[in-house]
Amino acid sequence: MHFLSELNLVTSIDNLEYYEIFNSLSLIKINRESEITLLNASVSDFADSLGFCEYKIPLSLKGVRPKPSPALIQGTKAHKQEEIFEAEHVELEPVTIEQIEDKEEDIEFARENIHSTLIMPFEFPNENVLVTLSGRIDKILRSDETLIVQDDKFTGRPKDYDSKTQPYASQLLQVLTYLNSSFSTKRSKNPDDFFELPHSQKKWQIRICDRKTREPYKIFSGFQDSFELYYLHSSLERFATLSLGIKEPAHHNSQNKCNACNLKSFCDFRI
Ligand code: SF4
Repeated sequence: MHFLSELNLVTSIDNLEYYEIFNSLSLIKINRESEITLLNASVSDFADSLGFCEYKIPLSLKGVRPKPSPALIQGTKAHKQEEIFEAEHVELEPVTIEQIEDKEEDIEFARENIHSTLIMPFEFPNENVLVTLSGRIDKILRSDETLIVQDDKFTGRPKDYDSKTQPYASQLLQVLTYLNSSFSTKRSKNPDDFFELPHSQKKWQIRICDRKTREPYKIFSGFQDSFELYYLHSSLERFATLSLGIKEPAHHNSQNKCNACNLKSFCDFRI
């Protein structure tokens, strides 16, 4: 039964999900209203530009969207397969509002079922800005009063991580953003749909998984501390100043990054 589901899934991805993946690659949007500037982006836009290359911001603002790479398509397939596997093998019960509000209650949400929204205001000399970052969380749970966000990275070459002792900056920014967001069970801008998960501490987990087996190969994890919170806040502020043209992007001067970049063919700053 499980085997059939996987086959159906792969076929449907090959036929039409390429276009869904392409359309899901969002763009950074700025909307200047009379008193406030609204800056909207996905969590991955934010994490990728601040954690990988700041020159992605002006390209996104110009409407440049990369074609889904084979690695992204394979990763999306692996995520879907994990979702199906969990649906077939794990029995999840509905949770009540009372359970959500009780921080002593252990809760685990189904994979890919929770949307995140982080809203952060900034006052700059010439404008007030509201940054909104939207995303969807691979896995979120509360255990022993700890809010845990887990993000899975599926890679064809997990051994590349053998020598790494820390996750990449973009991976860390992504989970920190989720950990400091409001949550909802649907994609929504209505604050009434948002809920919080009371907790005593926050923990992130980044699982580097083998794309073939979908098994975790290496896990980075940590409890959010004040340094990470400062890192997130200063990155959000820099993201806003770069997006609004208040500051210029800084170049990483890494040819390896440009060679690996999905926007290389569109970028005048590639090296
Ligand atoms: S090609 Fe290089 S400079 Fe341009 S966006 Fe990509 S990583 Fe940045």
